[in-house]
Amino acid sequence: MSGQLRTVDVVEGFTGRLITPGDGDYDEARTIWNAMIDRRPSHIARCRTTDDVVAVLAWARAGDREVAVRGGGHSIPGHSMIDDGVVIDLSPMDSVEVDEDALVVRVAGGCLLGDVDAATQAHGLATPAGAISHTGAGGLILGGGLGWTMRKYGLTIDNLLSATVVLADGEVVTASEDEHPDLFWALRGGGGNFGVVTEFVLRLHPRGPVYLAATAFSIEDSAVVLRAMAAHMPTADDDLVWSAFFRKLPDFPWAPPDRVGEPVLLAPLAWLGDHDEGAREIDRILQDLGVDPLASARGPIEYVDLQRLNDELNGHGHWNYHKSGFLRDLDDDTIASLVRCGARIASANSQLEVLSMGGLISRIDESSTAFAHRDELWPVNVCGIWRPEESAEDNLAWVRTTWSDLEDHLRAGSYMNFGGSDASGDEQRESYGETWTRLREVKTRYDPDNVFRHNANIPPLTSGAIR
Ligand SMILES: Cc1cc2nc3c(=O)[nH]c(=O)nc-3n(C[C@H](O)[C@H](O)[C@H](O)COP(=O)(O)OP(=O)(O)OC[C@H]3O[C@@H](n4cnc5c(N)ncnc54)[C@H](O)[C@@H]3O)c2cc1C
Repeated sequence: MSGQLRTVDVVEGFTGRLITPGDGDYDEARTIWNAMIDRRPSHIARCRTTDDVVAVLAWARAGDREVAVRGGGHSIPGHSMIDDGVVIDLSPMDSVEVDEDALVVRVAGGCLLGDVDAATQAHGLATPAGAISHTGAGGLILGGGLGWTMRKYGLTIDNLLSATVVLADGEVVTASEDEHPDLFWALRGGGGNFGVVTEFVLRLHPRGPVYLAATAFSIEDSAVVLRAMAAHMPTADDDLVWSAFFRKLPDFPWAPPDRVGEPVLLAPLAWLGDHDEGAREIDRILQDLGVDPLASARGPIEYVDLQRLNDELNGHGHWNYHKSGFLRDLDDDTIASLVRCGARIASANSQLEVLSMGGLISRIDESSTAFAHRDELWPVNVCGIWRPEESAEDNLAWVRTTWSDLEDHLRAGSYMNFGGSDASGDEQRESYGETWTRLREVKTRYDPDNVFRHNANIPPLTSGAIR
């Protein structure tokens, strides 16, 4: 830029940093988790305070600029990055305050899950959240929040007590059961459609180490494992966690070197209660299978280590193309399709996941939050993940073929946070299920002009506010 003058935008009342295309760190600032997303905003406003968010939002709106909101930048379709408009980047807002007497934690809007776990575990406490610690708390909470401890403590939203929200018109409100209860309902499952959340207040639970059995089974034995999971999980104790991931065997320290790279079924089993009881329960499950894992490792694991166990496998910088839904059932036909698709996985990082929900999630009144999938048991994710130098064509083809093979086994709708990379408007709508109409009413009240539209969008019903 030597010899040239740059016009510097001034945003009144903004104390953060405004990054524009001429800045040296512009490319780093516009990079998000999914390396496939390559968008060039006109401004990235790194906010430090709620007032910064208010200031930059007012400035963007006055200049008729589109806005996107960035928490941890893990939206798989890249909702937090836009071309041309203004990104309200909350990443500097990463404070976590624990009140161990009240058993609550205040989480700033730009925190990563690892920030929250580190601060809460320093007091032997935890709030349930996702399974990869570099995920943003903001986006994860607003969509629901699935993770290792969800069957015992509920979704993350089931532990949300209140939120501080900057609305589209710049007003700052608290949403809770007592204040703006309609907004509070919508924030718990409706994503970033209603405003910018600058602080979440969440309930905490005493949480010690977890008993974990990491297991890997050959593809030939994988159907047996899935059948046992299908038989066991619908009535299992809330302390039991069991999920299944088809992927090529990573070079885990416990993996036999000659099997690394082979498509396998990873089937981690964890127990959130007493460790001796967990060891007995998991022994019984594994013995009843009648087949042996090709490799396994087991024992207690610190909660923070569990939460970041798979961070590297899900690291930044890969290209990602995902499809997501819920299996109707985990019956023999579905299992046969899953095994077929798992066996032909294309890259070393891709995976086909089947999670187990149920437990406390299914016992919470469906109408209490905007999360529409409490009766689902089996979220399924087809995650095409590859390095930029690998063949996009092969990986896209694997995801698409897998998805069409599974189509007959899927229910309508998906978890909006795992939202497909190219979900159509109808698919996005289905991810909100029965809550759609009520969500649109709340959207109309709080964001009638659809300012917050770079998300799994819920369009307002009319252009006039009805608040
Ligand atoms: C590697 C990986 C692992 C994952 N694991 C899990 C998991 O275990 N459980 C699970 O439930 N989900 C999981 N997810 C999905 C995850 O919940 C979503 O991708 C979520 O949107 C990420 O939030 P973020 O803040 O990082 O994303 P961003 O890309 O920053 O934002 C996503 C959306 O949320 C909005 N948003 C973010 N923060 C705020 C805020 N403070 N106020 C208002 N709007 C906001 C954004 O505008 C955008 O629309 C995972 C995703 C990835 C990539």
